[in-house]
Amino acid sequence: MSPYTIPTMDTMPLMPLREVVMFPRSIVPLFVGREASIKAIESAMENYDRQILLVAQKDSTLSRPTREEMFDVGTVSRVLQLLRLPDGTIKVLFEGLYRAVWDLEDAVVPEAEGAFQMAVVRPMPMEESPAYEAQATVRAVREAVEEYAKINKKLTQEALQALMVNSDPGRLADAVIPHLKVDYLKKQEVLEAAGTAARLDLVFELLQGEISIAGMEKRIKTRVKNQMERNQREYYLNEQIKAIHKEMGREDDPQLEVAEMEKRLREKDMPEEAREKTLREVKKLRHMPASSAEYTVVRNYVDWVLDLPWNVLKDTCIDIENARAVLDADHYGLEKPKERILEYLAVQKLANTLKGPILCLVGPPGVGKTSLAKSVARATGREFIRLSLGGVRDEAEIRGHRRTYVGALPGKIIQSLKRVSCNNPLFCLDEIDKMSMDFRGDPSAALLEVLDPEQNNTFNDHYLDTDYDLSQIFFITTANSLHSIPLPLQDRMEIITLPGYLETEKFRIAKTHLLPKQIKAHGLKEENVRVSDNAVLEIIRSYTREAGVRSLEREIATVCRKAAMQVVKSDDLDRRVNVTCQSLPPMLGVPKVRHGEREHSPQIGVCTGLAYTQVGGELLLVETALMPGTGKVSTTGKLGDVMTESAKAALSYVRSRSDIFGLRQDFHKDIDIHVHVPEGATPKDGPSAGITLATSLVSALLGIPVRNDVAMTGEITLRGRVLPIGGLREKLLAAHRGRIATVIIPKDNEKDLKDVPEDILKGLTVIPVEHVDELLPLALEAGHGEIFHGRREAMPISLSLKRVEEDASSPAPN
Ligand code: ADP
Repeated sequence: MSPYTIPTMDTMPLMPLREVVMFPRSIVPLFVGREASIKAIESAMENYDRQILLVAQKDSTLSRPTREEMFDVGTVSRVLQLLRLPDGTIKVLFEGLYRAVWDLEDAVVPEAEGAFQMAVVRPMPMEESPAYEAQATVRAVREAVEEYAKINKKLTQEALQALMVNSDPGRLADAVIPHLKVDYLKKQEVLEAAGTAARLDLVFELLQGEISIAGMEKRIKTRVKNQMERNQREYYLNEQIKAIHKEMGREDDPQLEVAEMEKRLREKDMPEEAREKTLREVKKLRHMPASSAEYTVVRNYVDWVLDLPWNVLKDTCIDIENARAVLDADHYGLEKPKERILEYLAVQKLANTLKGPILCLVGPPGVGKTSLAKSVARATGREFIRLSLGGVRDEAEIRGHRRTYVGALPGKIIQSLKRVSCNNPLFCLDEIDKMSMDFRGDPSAALLEVLDPEQNNTFNDHYLDTDYDLSQIFFITTANSLHSIPLPLQDRMEIITLPGYLETEKFRIAKTHLLPKQIKAHGLKEENVRVSDNAVLEIIRSYTREAGVRSLEREIATVCRKAAMQVVKSDDLDRRVNVTCQSLPPMLGVPKVRHGEREHSPQIGVCTGLAYTQVGGELLLVETALMPGTGKVSTTGKLGDVMTESAKAALSYVRSRSDIFGLRQDFHKDIDIHVHVPEGATPKDGPSAGITLATSLVSALLGIPVRNDVAMTGEITLRGRVLPIGGLREKLLAAHRGRIATVIIPKDNEKDLKDVPEDILKGLTVIPVEHVDELLPLALEAGHGEIFHGRREAMPISLSLKRVEEDASSPAPN
């Protein structure tokens, strides 16, 4: 920097500066483009010893500012270097010399384009401040500059050192200020500040401001940088995870999966409440690692919700005539149950709602309960679901487990709905009477909610934990017997009884349904197998013992299988296999069932009764033997409590009538009575053998044989009245099958005869009686008089006992 002297007043060209303030002792390069400015510089170079006044414009947008539009204080500077650039502009290196106040040489602004102005400059007077005060500020500024240098990397070490050598406050201020990134207006303020200390104060203030701004800037930068680094790191790691998944063959991206789930949930047709709840669950998934157990649990839950047919209804129609046709085509007979079902459908159609009692089909196994329910589904166009409740003892099977359990699932009802994917199927709850309860809760209580039309639109499955509407489902339940169904459950159902088939009905079912079905199922043609009517009857009688037709179907299937074998072996696919009674044993084995037949001849103490079992009616023999003894009565043949009591009642009746029968008052004292009911291994119970027991006893005591072609059924009172019994149809069938000629029934059962098919009654004489006294003459091989009073003197008891005494080796008469 060349020495110069500051003149008291001078004239020199003026150059206005845009947004730049020139300071004394600073060296600044500037690009000059305005023509007037270029001319001013050129003039300064030529005529004014390179000196020029640089003054900042107040408004930087003006190209030709007037005196008022420029600040009052500027810096007289010297041109150090000048470089002309190809585009006509010049790059000039200025060195600030001293600050000066100025005025225009000519008050008039030159009109001509490119004309510059001349200024009259006067150095600005400076007030010196007290030295100690200035020194303090100098020190503070130096420290601040050092601090600033640490933040502002543009302030190089050399520049810093050059700054630090200035101990004069004014110089220090002028040296520091160009390095600060403050607004030019602030800089102008510094330039104009009158005292050196004041100037340095201002600089210190600006410096502090810069430091804090720079600090803040740094902090922001670091934060942004960290954030970016974190984002980059996450991105990088995510990419790595993806790569690992890909490598392991698991290409699904969990986040994508979650987004997909959310999308499907929003689109799914389902109740809003359930949707909101599930969306909340999906949100949780976003923050869980996909490999965690919790994630799997929640995801399974969402999958379940998505898979359920919340509002999906299949088109159904109820056309009664069509329904009747379908039911008739699928099942032979069953007139009453079919009619009840059709009535039920008619009401449904009229009321257009399912609200009504649930149907419950009750009957022995194999009578077609489940298949009838299936037919109803076919007839009404609904999907069919069957759920067997046999052995279900845990409430959770109906209602599901709470999600807190490991491996929790919804209940069977919800599971089944998922399977059929519609919300209005026909739901057959099979074997509702076989449900039991234990410490895990009472499943029937859960069923109460399912089957109650008033509340099943808000069924709450523990797993789903939100209301599910079951009210569009057509429920049909089945049971073998009513007595094990809890009463509240029975209350909600309309009971329809399927009684079990008679032989004739089984025959028709076999011919019209089972045989064609099995022939088809075994890949045979109708012409391949001909089963004679007698063979069908023989299968029913000798190979099955059941109320339904399940075993019958199985035996017919065996016949078809054997026939198929013969057809294939013969190599002639049109071969016909004739099945007759004779061909049955080779196909089905020896007859498995022996039905009771009447005795060959009338016997003393042996009376034929009629029993009603799970599998239909049966002949039941009752044998009574008398032995010398001490008045003991024993019963054998696995008799239940009711039957044993029935035997005692019969004995009491006989004793009460001993005088009429011509027996000693105390006849029982010296004999033992043994009542036996074969077959000994089969448990028997019930009161309906009462009159049979009585007849057998009387026969044994009076020594009069019982007619072998008479069978009877009826409960007995102590006074000999005959009370009504159940299962008359089946009992009469058993009598018919056993070649019995006369059947004695209670008078009160006479009304049930109308339900018995004609062809059974055809060969039978049915005699209704009110009192045992009426039946004894009919059953015993003796005239009326012989039994009552007429033979009183003959004392037949002594006769029979005498006979026993004669042949002591045989304890039982006959
Ligand atoms: P359940 O449910 O009462 O135990 P199923 O419905 O399983 O009995 O019936 C057993 C078989 O008997 C089925 O193949 C069914 O088609 C047949 N079946 C039962 N009753 C009839 C009938 N009346 N007509 C035709 N087939 C019948």
